[in-house]
Amino acid sequence: MKKTLLCIFILFFVFPLLWFLFSQFELRSPVVNINIPSTYLPKTYNMDLDITEKGTGLRRVFIAISQNTKEKIILDKIYPRKSNIGLFFGSGVYNDSLKIAVESSKYGMGDGEATLTINISDFSWWRWNNGNRFFKEQKVVIDTKPPEIEVLSKTHNINRGGVGLVIYRLKDDDAQTQSGVQVGDIFYKGYSGTFKQKDIFTAFFALTHLQGAGTEIYVKAEDVAGNIAKKGFYHYIKEKKFRNDTLEISDSFLQNIMPQFNLGEVDAGFDSEANPLLSKFVYINQKLRPMNIDQILKPVEQTEHKMMWSGQFLRLPGAAPRAQFADRRTYRYNGKQIDQQYHMGVDLASLAHSNIPAANSGRVLGVDDIGIFGKCVLIDHGFGVCSSYAHLSQISVKTGDIVKKGDIIGQTGTTGLAAGDHLHFGMSIDKTFVNPVEWWDPLWIKNNIDLKINEVKQELGKKLR
Ligand SMILES: [Zn+2]
Repeated sequence: MKKTLLCIFILFFVFPLLWFLFSQFELRSPVVNINIPSTYLPKTYNMDLDITEKGTGLRRVFIAISQNTKEKIILDKIYPRKSNIGLFFGSGVYNDSLKIAVESSKYGMGDGEATLTINISDFSWWRWNNGNRFFKEQKVVIDTKPPEIEVLSKTHNINRGGVGLVIYRLKDDDAQTQSGVQVGDIFYKGYSGTFKQKDIFTAFFALTHLQGAGTEIYVKAEDVAGNIAKKGFYHYIKEKKFRNDTLEISDSFLQNIMPQFNLGEVDAGFDSEANPLLSKFVYINQKLRPMNIDQILKPVEQTEHKMMWSGQFLRLPGAAPRAQFADRRTYRYNGKQIDQQYHMGVDLASLAHSNIPAANSGRVLGVDDIGIFGKCVLIDHGFGVCSSYAHLSQISVKTGDIVKKGDIIGQTGTTGLAAGDHLHFGMSIDKTFVNPVEWWDPLWIKNNIDLKINEVKQELGKKLR
């Protein structure tokens, strides 16, 4: 009898009690996925929290930022219990996704260090009924001051389709600040390294062949916190007219050149039934061209942060000029216009398989076979300035090679979209093709690069004395 009572007691009282205590004293802390900036707190950003809790349910999400004695509560969300029976039962909320706007500039705190506190708890009876918790304290830096820019170079004459150089001083505590020149909607990065003063930057920038006198140009700097500074500088944009050119596309050209392009089934939507070769050509000329331009210029992201070149750039010796930079080409087939494109380099024709010298000293950034360019080489000269060589029959350098001005890098040919043996020579700043003619001109190099750098060096020297 006694045994039976004991069994009933254990079964109906002790077991449930143990089970109940067990579930109330659960040890599983809320699991939180959160994006916290590593050091600098952006002026405004959204903190995303994804919380998962297994057990008694979420009790409280508390987020605050504090600096010295000031504290600003960013969020204090309390989850009510499911029932009113005293301490029994948690909130029953097991998941929550929160998007919290953090606007450090509005909290009345000064620039400098602050602490971000995140405290998330559940309804467990652990820690004297304070619950399991996710707790994180993160040191952050509030930065509301934009960088300061002082332009040091004086004259900036830029040709349409050409290049400019600006030298500026950047004052900012944040070492990760990005700066450079904004030209319309294109940004060109600036680099320190030309001067021994680390806060002095040089930026090469381009005006595309399509950007005219009305283009907005200014030095721009943005720190990690998102503060932006802009500084204009005196400049003069010189208009330049480019040529128009008409290219007749013949059947023999199509039959000769098209087979090497392995594109699978493509349809440019142009006469594809009647003339698949012509349709393929239009596809290559229109759709493949921009993709290939991206490919050939992509490695410039690894540009050296120093000027590896000096003096004028070399032109293929003894070569007659063919197509020029930014020629507006109209393509015709049987007297009918089929396409229009800009030619973004200079075509130079010499004897077939002529040796090609590196236009200037630098590092080979890319050796590849890229669609319309065929076998091609990209040489980095530093600071985003690159020269490119296309339609080669043979390449005698490899990626990573250091080349000196005049070193033979390969031979001219007809690979890619080329009708006859020639070199397609390109100059580029970051991802913009520019007019090579400027770089072949010793006077242009002297006036627009060398003298400018020396002028700033002298000015800085004077100030030191
Ligand atoms: Zn060309």
